[in-house]
Amino acid sequence: MIAVVEKTSDIAAIIHRNRKKGNTIGFVPTMGALHTGHLSLVKKSIKENDLTIVSIFVNPTQFNNKIDLAKYPRTLEADLSLLMPLKVDIVFNPSVQEIYPLGDTEGSDIDLGGLDTYMEGAFRPGHFKGVAQVVRRLLEIVGPDRLYMGQKDFQQFTIIQFMIRNLKINTTLVVCPIIRETNGLAMSSRNVRLSEETRAKAGIIYKTLKAIRKNILVKSIKDLEAYGLKKLTNAPFEPEYITIVDGNRLTPLKDINESNYAIACVAVWADGVRLIDNIVLKKG
Ligand code: AMP
Repeated sequence: MIAVVEKTSDIAAIIHRNRKKGNTIGFVPTMGALHTGHLSLVKKSIKENDLTIVSIFVNPTQFNNKIDLAKYPRTLEADLSLLMPLKVDIVFNPSVQEIYPLGDTEGSDIDLGGLDTYMEGAFRPGHFKGVAQVVRRLLEIVGPDRLYMGQKDFQQFTIIQFMIRNLKINTTLVVCPIIRETNGLAMSSRNVRLSEETRAKAGIIYKTLKAIRKNILVKSIKDLEAYGLKKLTNAPFEPEYITIVDGNRLTPLKDINESNYAIACVAVWADGVRLIDNIVLKKG
């Protein structure tokens, strides 16, 4: 049976009991509306740790768009029925008050090394401050050995890795591959808001990223970005950005030889939904 815990004090007691037994703890933070992508993180945590805690918390401080927050799907019962067969130990489902007892600006001033100024950060002001704030708070509550996050939110895990190192938090970040729908669309809780037709066509995003990867050594970055923008400017799709960046610093690259870790990142609007994806072009 999964235990659904709402109180921080109850989590503290569970952690205390498990630490006494010498158990390792894996933690998967989510905003719920779970899909196979989330479940891949949960499965990895269960495999690698004695106890796995999954949090389901729609964090208001990371939404710069109040309509997006209001529309964010909340499906706790369905989420629990997906987690049940995996034998997850604990689901932490706190209230906003439980996470931010001193108000939701408490703990939001975190140094992100400027990594929050690029891409998502440029289009969603304040988003990563909110993400870092909630992840720091959750790590403080759970104190896990390992934290599981998805490659899908590339900038997010890069920023969290920076924060963990900078604040010397004793947790190892484990990054898990992007899980995709059969047409290549990266799974996301927001995909349910796409029309059936748009969802079927949205494989174009990954297709475009793969075409960029294929041509990275023969075409200039400028041309590849222009190609990507053109490919994705096709109703109902409207690209917000498509950028090739250094995977550590997140700075835009002009030439592929400027970095040995290059990644193409994209954000596209469709049916009023913002979709993001990325592909590693070069690493190592
Ligand atoms: P969210 O509920 O959207 O905040 O996501 C919770 C975690 O699941 C984050 O670390 C995401 O990067 C990860 N995640 C979301 N979608 C996918 C996916 N398609 N494949 C792998 N991980 C994912």
